[in-house]
Amino acid sequence: MKAMRLHDVGVFTLDNVEKPMPKGNEILIKVNACGICGSDIPRVYELGTRVYPVTLGHEFSGTVCEVGNEEDKKLIGKKVAIFPIIPCKKCVNCQTGNYAQCENYQYLGSRNDGGFAEYCLVPSRWHLIFSNNIETSIEDLALVEPATVAQHAIRKSNLRAGENIVIIGAGPIGILAARWAKIFGANDIILMEIDKVKIDFAKKLGLNVVDVNDSECIEFIKMKMKNINVVIEGTGTTSGINNAIELVSTFGRIVMMGNPHKDTQIKLQNHSLILRKEINLIGIWNSYYVDFPFNEWKYTVKSIDDKILKVDDLITHKSSLLNLKSMFDKIYNKEISICKAIYSDNIL
Ligand SMILES: [Zn+2]
Ligand SMILES: [Zn+2]
Repeated sequence: MKAMRLHDVGVFTLDNVEKPMPKGNEILIKVNACGICGSDIPRVYELGTRVYPVTLGHEFSGTVCEVGNEEDKKLIGKKVAIFPIIPCKKCVNCQTGNYAQCENYQYLGSRNDGGFAEYCLVPSRWHLIFSNNIETSIEDLALVEPATVAQHAIRKSNLRAGENIVIIGAGPIGILAARWAKIFGANDIILMEIDKVKIDFAKKLGLNVVDVNDSECIEFIKMKMKNINVVIEGTGTTSGINNAIELVSTFGRIVMMGNPHKDTQIKLQNHSLILRKEINLIGIWNSYYVDFPFNEWKYTVKSIDDKILKVDDLITHKSSLLNLKSMFDKIYNKEISICKAIYSDNIL
């Protein structure tokens, strides 16, 4: 089978590798779609991975095609989204169901072979989230991971019906967070973005977007919203975190979702504002994947199945495996501006 494998920083090639055979609890997935995550670009060109070679891609969906266990045979042909974290299930965080906080995890698409391939071997059916609507497109299921991260941010913000929310960053997760905010009953929702193409894209989707390049943007939002109960900080930048602190109302909540940039700094007067306004700073990491008290991944798939959450209009670019490296290059070199780019086995 063909797989896009990282051999070293910058060495990302389409290889012919042996098609895996599932044994025991393992499940073989025919990959139908796999999203390019914002984290995949630095992973390929700057940071690399811990293991080489490795097939990248952690935002994927597919069809169960072979199983190791007789009792899993009934799963063959089912379309699924995949939970890519392989937790150790031994550490204290795993024992309490907090798999995103596992201290010794494996990960499909960075430490283990992932979804930029024709097939992917998954350790067991535990990783599969089943879609129950034949109308749900398999490409939509490749957006379950970013959609669930966005849902987790809104859930952790404790957003209540009628509250106002500002989301900093209008990439795919920011837009999805805005959609979840609506589902959770938000009153006014405003996105902030610096990139003109992203601003236009989000506006075309009917969202309220404020241009961060406008020096009066903070005053403008404060005037429009008056009470800003929640800010989701999705950029990890100095301007993002400082804007969040300046915007949020007294006793408000800031969800810190964006990975920090190298030199992110909170201004002295804003450090003081955190205290004066008694702001709640809420760090989040990934998502929650256990049925009790609540499985966010299953709820994302159900919301897509029930057409409560729309995701398909975020896919702006599609590629075959053959042309995937060239799409990565174009994204890295900023030759194209994407919302969500995916590998789809539908594209020749
Ligand atoms: Zn991702
Ligand atoms: Zn663990």
